[in-house]
Amino acid sequence: MLGVQTMKASDFLKVVTDNLALLSEKVAPPGVDSCSSCGIPLQETVTGNRPYGPDQHVCSDCYFDELGREIEQHPISSRGITH
Ligand SMILES: [Zn+2]
Repeated sequence: MLGVQTMKASDFLKVVTDNLALLSEKVAPPGVDSCSSCGIPLQETVTGNRPYGPDQHVCSDCYFDELGREIEQHPISSRGITH
């Protein structure tokens, strides 16, 4: 298969260790997106990773902050509902 790179287990573990060290300092390792808003490295299961515009991703906290602001600016109208 073309394009598939193999990595020795010892190399893999070193990369994982290095990446975990970076993540613990809130630095995004190579290949990991950072939140466009707060800059935290995006880990799908920890911070969430939501697409936000072209080539931008934000964490769930920033996503819902922004969503809340949008809803405040454009409230969902209750007009038209009859009882
Ligand atoms: Zn964020």
